[in-house]
Amino acid sequence: MAAPAGKTAAEPSPERNVSDKPDAVPAPDTGCLAALVAVHGGGVRAAEIKPGHEAACSVVEPIVVEALIVRAGAEPLRITLQPPATVSCTMAKSVAQWLETSVQPLAKGYFARELTALRVGGGHECRRRNRTANGPLSEHSTGQALDIFAFVLGDGKLDGTVVVEKPHDTTQERFLAAVRQSACGAFMTSLGPGSDAAHANHLHIDIQPRRAPSSRFCQ
Ligand SMILES: [Zn+2]
Repeated sequence: MAAPAGKTAAEPSPERNVSDKPDAVPAPDTGCLAALVAVHGGGVRAAEIKPGHEAACSVVEPIVVEALIVRAGAEPLRITLQPPATVSCTMAKSVAQWLETSVQPLAKGYFARELTALRVGGGHECRRRNRTANGPLSEHSTGQALDIFAFVLGDGKLDGTVVVEKPHDTTQERFLAAVRQSACGAFMTSLGPGSDAAHANHLHIDIQPRRAPSSRFCQ
């Protein structure tokens, strides 16, 4: 019995007027937000980015991240971003995967506590690198970067906050070193205290491709 040779070709999808802007923007990964919501849950939504004065400051599929759900053992764990950050969907996915596979397990291993929040800054921001007047645009301009100032464990009490600039003790120092090591593999660039003055108090991570595709920059 042959399968009916019906019209199986895909119907043209309904026209969607995605943009009336004259400039071509990179094709968005339209499945990204749905996939992110499905896997990393409830604290993410599409964001509206007002065009900046620099055309280059556009974000592909910008989303606001209030929290990411990661698997921690059998239980889903909600990790909030304080304050919520606007980044590209792809960046949010990279951060979620890194938290799940590296940072949360390290928090568990070093402190026997869950990672519950990140104190962050510098999601999407239309500016030049290190806030200079004429340098290249920062990776923050395209929503591909995030700055982390502290990792919060449990309720944050009893030394439960690991401040990137000032770890309390050697355990926190070792945790931060391990976190930075893992960021080095998970992102294209990671910079933190000791790299330069602009990164003395936070860990900068981004997924902006570097000139040589295989090169990563970790300091
Ligand atoms: Zn940064």
